[in-house]
Amino acid sequence: MKNILSAPFLKEFVRTASNMYRLGYDERNGGNISLLVDYDEYKDFVTEGVIREIPLNFDASELIGKAFLVTGTGKYFKNIEYDPEVNLGLIRIGKDGKTAELLWGFVDGSRPTSELPSHLMSHIARLKVNPNNKVVMHCHPGNLIAMTLVEKLDEKSFTKLIWKSNTECIVVFPEGIGVLPWVLCGTNLIGELTAAKMKDYRAVVWANHGIFVVGDTLDEAFGIVETIEKTAQIYMTAKPFGIINTITDAQLLELVKFFKVEKFVKDGWLE
Ligand SMILES: [Zn+2]
Repeated sequence: MKNILSAPFLKEFVRTASNMYRLGYDERNGGNISLLVDYDEYKDFVTEGVIREIPLNFDASELIGKAFLVTGTGKYFKNIEYDPEVNLGLIRIGKDGKTAELLWGFVDGSRPTSELPSHLMSHIARLKVNPNNKVVMHCHPGNLIAMTLVEKLDEKSFTKLIWKSNTECIVVFPEGIGVLPWVLCGTNLIGELTAAKMKDYRAVVWANHGIFVVGDTLDEAFGIVETIEKTAQIYMTAKPFGIINTITDAQLLELVKFFKVEKFVKDGWLE
């Protein structure tokens, strides 16, 4: 049995969590990540034995047999790199679809993130539109949250404020950004609402709270967060001075044609 701390998927996960902490996206126990890990990726690092079973309070039957590396509830991102076995767990969805089988980690007896329903429901929704999706990531980027305090929570207008502030945005997320109003976190309801948005978007903003992002890789999901948060910072820094120069719809159209992503832009979003 090889040491799981040398597994590429675990090393990249830890590196990503540390970067998110250092960028200020995950204060205290804020934020959580789940990574779908193929059997071939983890089979050399864990035994087949189930350490313990953790009940899920919803039906995840569509993910039976799939394994996820997840952050723990109440755990601090800043501590993950120093003690992965306490702060992370590798879980497999059991045959009943209502149990998580712990294969590794959470050695202090802890459990997966309280946002596990939102994560697993997002994985289910996203795998239907993209079978290569592996990552669901949640964090609290400050400038983006600030933007939800002062701008309308309308997907088209919110997305266009971002697209029009910074050239790379429409190329990185041409499908736009989903937006949810404030909803109680940690509940099945916010999971269902987020998963419904994930059919159309890879990024869903939770007003006064943060963002949920999906991707084929940790880099892709993290890159979307970085791009949105950096642009929110640019926008919120410029706004008090009065914004006079933005990228026009015609220029956005030039960008999507040049980078061949126009098919992802929703009808009626660019005039
Ligand atoms: Zn949160």
